[in-house]
Amino acid sequence: MAAKDHRTGARHEAETSAIEHLWPHSNDLEWDEYTERGLRVFVSGQGSTLTDVQGRSYLDGLAGLFLVNVGHGRAEIGAAMAEQAGRLAYTASSNSTNPATVALAETIASITPGDLDRVFFCSGGSEAVETALKIAKQAQVLRGYPKRYKVICRRGSYHGQTFGAMSLTSSAKEQYFGPFMAGVSKVPSPNRYRNDFGLEGEAGDLMCARYVEQEILAQGPEHVAAVIGEPISAANGTHLPSPAYWQEVRRICDRHGVLLIMDEVITGYGRTGAMFAAEHYGVVPDIMTMAKGLSSGYAPIGAVAVRPQVFEPFTKHGNAINHLLTFGGHAVAAAAASKNIEIIQRENLVERSAEMGRYLLKLADDLRHHPTVGDVRGGRGLLCAIDLVRSKETKEAWGTEHPFIKGLALRTQEQGLITRVWDVLHLAPPLVITEPEVEHAIEIVDSCLTEMEHEFAEAIS
Ligand code: PLP
Repeated sequence: MAAKDHRTGARHEAETSAIEHLWPHSNDLEWDEYTERGLRVFVSGQGSTLTDVQGRSYLDGLAGLFLVNVGHGRAEIGAAMAEQAGRLAYTASSNSTNPATVALAETIASITPGDLDRVFFCSGGSEAVETALKIAKQAQVLRGYPKRYKVICRRGSYHGQTFGAMSLTSSAKEQYFGPFMAGVSKVPSPNRYRNDFGLEGEAGDLMCARYVEQEILAQGPEHVAAVIGEPISAANGTHLPSPAYWQEVRRICDRHGVLLIMDEVITGYGRTGAMFAAEHYGVVPDIMTMAKGLSSGYAPIGAVAVRPQVFEPFTKHGNAINHLLTFGGHAVAAAAASKNIEIIQRENLVERSAEMGRYLLKLADDLRHHPTVGDVRGGRGLLCAIDLVRSKETKEAWGTEHPFIKGLALRTQEQGLITRVWDVLHLAPPLVITEPEVEHAIEIVDSCLTEMEHEFAEAIS
């Protein structure tokens, strides 16, 4: 039997049932934490606000999981999905398609940077990464390089939970799932707060780029298929690399015949104040993955866009892509994504993300007076990270299991703000968030930090 709710003393039957029957996805929460705290069961949402079965409202400071870009409660997306489902929900993903999927492919080709104009559909971000890996590996073989199977990714990155994607994800637990995919190596990631080389500013970013070349040379360019990275890595703490970093990585990949995969699963569709974060860097990857904001979560959908030179070898006789996903190009998901993109464009949400992101950073920056706020990063759209430390001098992190971190996560939630607190506190609200809502979010973080710092005063130096 589920434990009692710590807030109200009474647990709603849906909350009890969730504890009894649902297996929640998890990267960090232990089962006893779920049973003790209960699983939040939300019944409705509007804009940046979510309401749970207890009737309590929360400010969704994380847009679900960095994705409800157009905000909750968009009935017009629901209507587009219902209309499509009533007419035709599904067509087989090989040998056939449907107008909704064709239209979406055309839209994606037109809004992605450069000549990324061929689109392969799937159901989410991990599948998109898995697909990108398979495209890169097969493309290298088709180009006449059968030994190019290795993939270089960055330490601390997150690319998903399927086997290939997990193999590129630093937090994936090798003790359970290893050995991972062969041929993966990890290189340092741009980080101006704790730079691996002790360098400051752009020099640190550039050293990370040059490290990519060193790794390609160490592995042997004749063995390397691709380099993959998030243009801005939320998992790695939202460090903003300089354009020179990505431009240098682009040049290095070209020099060695290595394909560049940009994973825009979080950063795509306005999150960073550009439709795609690659635009900030003036770089066109060979392969781009996307999901999350593609439908703002209204339907499970992901996609991979590639350039003509990647696609062309697949058009030769006997070279068809060896990859088929039943739900790739799902008509209802495509209808949801098209309506979502229409809203992003119609309401200028990309520009709004840029503007509100600057406001969020300005307010978050004021939290630096806290002894536990080591750094505040963001300002490129609505992607903000507050780096939490035990000591500003040593920049020592608390560790995700520390009661300070767990307590802060719980307290912000009790105060009505949904966020994610690991080594950094993430804020990535819907792009429709208003100024008063941004102010409210920062007020909650501010007061919760003060309370926690009081409670853990002895642990802070
Ligand atoms: N790539 C990046 C950069 C992500 O942040 C995520 C998820 O957070 C994924 C891939 C995996 O996406 P999904 O959870 O939809 O499988």
